[in-house]
This record gives sequence, C-alpha cells and structure tokens, in this order.
Amino acid sequence: PISPDFAEACFRDACGVDPVPRSRAVIAWLKENQASFAPVVDAALLAGDPPVIDLSVDTPLLGAGPEKDDAAAMTRMIFREMEDAGSRLGIGRYNEARVIYTADAFKVATDMAPEYRTVHLGLDLFTRPGEPVYAFMGGRVHSFRNNTACQDYGPTIILSHETDSGIPFYSLYGHLAATSLDGLKPGMPIRAGQTIGTIGTATENGGWAPHLHLQLITDLLEQDGDFPGVARPSQRRVWTALCPDPGVVLGLDTAPPDVEVRKADELMAIRRRHLGKSLSVSYDTPLKIVRGMGGFLYTETGQPYLDGVNNVCHVGHCHPTVVAAGGRQMAVLNTNTRYLHDNIVDYARRLLATFPDPLSVCFFVCSGSEANELALRMARTHTGQCDIITVDGAYHGNTQGLVDISPYKHDGPGGTGAPDWVQTVVMPCGYRGPHKGTGTPSGIAYAGYVKRAIERIEIGGRKPAAFICESMLGCGGQVLLPDGYLRTAFGHVRAAGGVCIADEVQVGFGRAGTHFWAFETQGVVPDIVTLGKPMGNGHPVAAVVTTPEIANAFNNGMEYFNTYGGNPVSCAVGLAVLDVIQSEGLQENARQVGAHLLERLSTLKDKSRLVGDVRGLGLYLGVELVTDHDTLAPAADEAAYICNRMKEYGFLISTDGPLHNVLKLKPPIIFSKANADALVDALEKVFAEDCLQG
Ligand code: PMP
Repeated sequence: PISPDFAEACFRDACGVDPVPRSRAVIAWLKENQASFAPVVDAALLAGDPPVIDLSVDTPLLGAGPEKDDAAAMTRMIFREMEDAGSRLGIGRYNEARVIYTADAFKVATDMAPEYRTVHLGLDLFTRPGEPVYAFMGGRVHSFRNNTACQDYGPTIILSHETDSGIPFYSLYGHLAATSLDGLKPGMPIRAGQTIGTIGTATENGGWAPHLHLQLITDLLEQDGDFPGVARPSQRRVWTALCPDPGVVLGLDTAPPDVEVRKADELMAIRRRHLGKSLSVSYDTPLKIVRGMGGFLYTETGQPYLDGVNNVCHVGHCHPTVVAAGGRQMAVLNTNTRYLHDNIVDYARRLLATFPDPLSVCFFVCSGSEANELALRMARTHTGQCDIITVDGAYHGNTQGLVDISPYKHDGPGGTGAPDWVQTVVMPCGYRGPHKGTGTPSGIAYAGYVKRAIERIEIGGRKPAAFICESMLGCGGQVLLPDGYLRTAFGHVRAAGGVCIADEVQVGFGRAGTHFWAFETQGVVPDIVTLGKPMGNGHPVAAVVTTPEIANAFNNGMEYFNTYGGNPVSCAVGLAVLDVIQSEGLQENARQVGAHLLERLSTLKDKSRLVGDVRGLGLYLGVELVTDHDTLAPAADEAAYICNRMKEYGFLISTDGPLHNVLKLKPPIIFSKANADALVDALEKVFAEDCLQG
C-alpha cells in the first residue's frame, strides 16, 4: 500500500510545488542549531579532511570488471582511497546515483523497463568496524532492528526528535553491529552524544564496506521498519524532500553531485548551438549514457540498457583486459611507427595469422574510412585504373571519395548521385531484390550485374580498378549475400584485371560465428580486406590487409605515413581484443547465441503481420518490416516506433536499410542466450501493442 503522505508528496511534486513543505522548516532549524550537535562518530575522525569516495555511476574508481557486484573488492577499493588520502574516514555522498545499486535487490518492476533504486538518501561514513556511533542530538528510540535482512542498511536504529517548535523528524543510523543494539527499547530516551551502537562488520551488513549510513527523515510514511535508504531516480525530488541532506548534522558540506544539473535537454541545447547539426542523436528522447559494462550501457542515474546494436564494443563495453592493455601502454609510450617497437610487429603477425594466404601484409590506420580510402588507392595504384564497382545501398565511409562509392549516402538526402567513375550494381538481396532466395542461382544471377558493370566500364575504353563489397551488407539492411555471389563476382572482376575488396569493417572478428572473417562464408579470398570498428573495442584502430603483390605495387616511391596508425597503444589494444575473443571463445558464442536469436526472431513472423523477413548470420541479424507482403511496402514508421519502444523496455536496437525498415541487431559478441531471450520477449510485447495491429 502507498502511504497517503507519500501520495500527497507525489501529487504536490507533480503540481510543481514543494513536495514536503515541513522539511524546509526542519532543515532551517537544523542549520540554526548545527553548532550544538554532537559528532556522530569520533570527532577526531571527522576533523581530518575525510575524502569523498565517488560511488556515482561514472566513478573512475570502478572498471567494467566484476568489482561492482563484489562487495569485498568494493570494500578494498573504498579503504584504499581512504588510505591514499591518509584518512581513517571516507564520505559517501547524499543524493548520489550509484552504480552499485544496479543489482537485482534494488530493481523495481514497472510496466516497461525495471527501474533501479540508485539514489542514495543518506550520507555514508566509511570507517573501521567497532567504531562507536553517537546520537547527534537528544531524542527517543523510535525503532530498531538488529537483523541483517534489509539490503538498504542492515542493523539499524531510528531516533525520533523534535524541533523547538515541536515539528517531529527522525535520524536513521544504518549498518550497525547487530549486538550493539542489544538493550535498546522503543521509547527509550537518548541524550545528545550518547553511544547508540557501533559500526558493523562487512559480514553483518550484507557484505558492504563497514560504514555508518546516516539518514534524516521528516515523515516515516508508516514504514519505519523498511524505510528505504535508496530511491528510484524518477521519484528523486520527492524522496530527497522527505530525506534532507544529513550533511547539515555533521557540519559537512557534501554538496550533492551535479548529476541533476546537466540533464539530456541541456546537453541537447549545447550540442545544437556548438556541434554541427548534421550529427544525429538516437531516439525521440535522447539518452545520456555515462558508463558501459559488458553488454550494458548505463544512464547517469544508473539505469541499464542492454546493448543490442554496438558492434564496436565487440568483446563487451570497457572489457578490463582491453582497458588494462591500453592503459598500461599509454603510461609507457605512445608514438608513431617510425621507430621500431614490438607491439606493431606482434600485432601484425597475430592479426595476419587469422587470414588465409596470400593475405599477409597489413597497413594500420585509425578508422574504417581511412582503411577503405587506402584500399582504393592501392587498387588504383596496382591496376593503373580508376573505376570502382560498388553495391547499391552500401556505405563505406565518410570521406568525399567514399561517399562517391556509397549509394547509401550519395543517393540519399543531400547526395548528388554517383560520379562517372562509379558503377553501382543491384543489391544482392534475396528478399527484396529481383532474384529471390539466398541459394546459388540467386548468387550467380546477382553477380551478373557485376559483369554488366564491367562491360559498361569497358565500353568507355577503361577497365575496373576494384569491386568493393561488404561481406554481409550493413546499411543495405543486414543482408546475407546469396551463395556463390562473391565467388562469381570476384571471377568476373579478376578476369577484367580488377581487384576485389572485402569491407569487413562491420562484420569481422568472429561476429559471423561460423568463421572469423565473414568473407570466408562465401568461400573466397579477397585481394584486399578492410577492418575497423570491432578491432579496438572502441579504441580507434583499423587496418588494410592485402597480398604482397598489391602491397609491393603500392610501394611506388610515395611514402604512406599515418600519424596515429599502428601506434604502440593501438596495437596493445588490438592484441588484447584478439586475446579476449580467443580466450573467451567469443566466435563460438556468436555462433551459438546468434543461431538461437535468429530462431527466436523467426517466430515473430507468426506473431506479427509486419515481419517480412528475418535474416543474418551469427550476431549480425536483421528483421525487415513491411506493411504489405506482396508489394513489400516498407514499414519504416513502425520500425522507428519499435526502436523507441524497445528503449523504453531497456533494450537498444536500431533501424537500417535504404528504406529504413530493417530492425538491426549487432550486439557485442558476449551477448548471452538470456540476453537474446529477454530482447525477443520485449520485442514480442511491442509487436503486440494495439498501434501495430493493422
Ligand atoms: N565500412 C562500413 C561497412 C561501415 O559500416 C563503416 C562505418 N559505419 C565504415 C566503413 C566507415 O568506418 P568509420 O566510421 O570507422 O570511418
């Protein structure tokens, strides 16, 4: 049941007035009388300059390792901070949204995504167990509990007080030693400065680092036994009005962190003013994300979102092995490649070992665009030709030269079409294209368009320099190439003297599951392969891999220098990513979880008339939505709606395809079967919504 006082506070808040007006009088009285209060722990502890321990969602004290949910590790970390500051006391802030409360015990079910109670309503004083705790002013024992069941603050005592004018309020002392509460009785008078308990050990308080949780309460809401110590961020104003800042009792200025200050709206306003407007933001209501851990991204209030679409943070956000490798090298040396260094050669060898012969030479660059630019230059230098054949709907990068070979851009808004040195071939999509299915006949038929493109180039008296194709089509709408497509197309291109470039910027590094490189699923060996996104797990590192023959032709006297490409930090990061993929068996995970996800997504066809096609391989999947199964009219508005709704359920996915009607799934490849099930369960709920029934 909801307490009437709480309901009133919520209604007042909704009307834009002070939710709990009497708190104001209590705070004013406390401020006036501050000098007369007794210290709640040994005055000497408070007198030193105790450090604030940052437990906010984006605290730099925590990485993405298991520490967040490992109380012993958290305790060590907190006490190390105190030791470094030379203090026996550490302060945990009031009104701080904390990453440690993103555990199940703090999860509140709602109609949409669960909300985690992350906002700390007390002030923590971390110190050794056994330290005595004193009443800050006189009052009576209102209640106490000496069991450890309450996750929010374990063994607790609540004292009742009154201001001079008789306004009642309470002080709560949590995480005490259970036995220290023996002998207390409700109603018992307590003097200012009287010992009321001692600080409990970690074992007594649910594993938390030993500390006093001090909280002020102006209305107990008839739930004194389990009064919350942390609150839902959506109810932050109401709860912080009910529980004022206990800093006033200690004479400590622990100004609440400024998480409330720069909300999404304000950031949007600054972006609009100072960042180019051609930079877009996802979702109708943008998200502010301050932390990534494994498969999840967290908002500034610690609300988790399962990342279903970031194929850059391939082995999981902020993977500790990758972070450590980058940090270690960053602290030692980062410079360009004109000095000898082990990292670049070790990485080159490790990376190239994953490629079939004769792909044995690599060039390191910093982005997928740089990789594709370099690939084009190599192809042109090697062949002495200029014309490029590209696939309709493709995206290969952000430079002018790459926009020219990216129909996704040059045929889209603001585009001016393909220049005359570009030949665009029909997208080999077995669902929407002219040849149906993903079997070999379809693959051979689509490769025929490449042959005709070569013929068009030859009519002008020229020859093709290169054919560039993603090994699975991304911006094209998560399209799986039909069998035999690359084999046949490569045959045509090579017969005309051109080179074949596989763009693996999206799909490489084990994502396909069955193979490390997605081109391998087509049974081909390209002449040039471009790599990017997943390669550095978010660190900007990319590469071009090619044959000695092409690399030698490119060595025509003009040096290729790239200031950042192949630097020792990038190579350390790249090596760590390969290590993690291999040691954690992530390619196999992509295969198994991808197959399961594809199977579950396929069942959506029976549940919604919007689902036209479900396709992909490994953890690179797409669901194409149509309003008519005969005309294949795209359901783009519905796809955008579904993405936004999925966000409300706590899942991040996006849309793609030239018609913007394909739901795109390409999560970090640590994605688990449980993640896949949770995501499809949420999709089922969204597809069942009234507005999507036609
Ligand atoms: N190729 C493909 C297939 C891509 O998807 C992208 C990026 N979306 C690029 C190249 C360009 O990579 P970057 O953004 O790192 O320059």
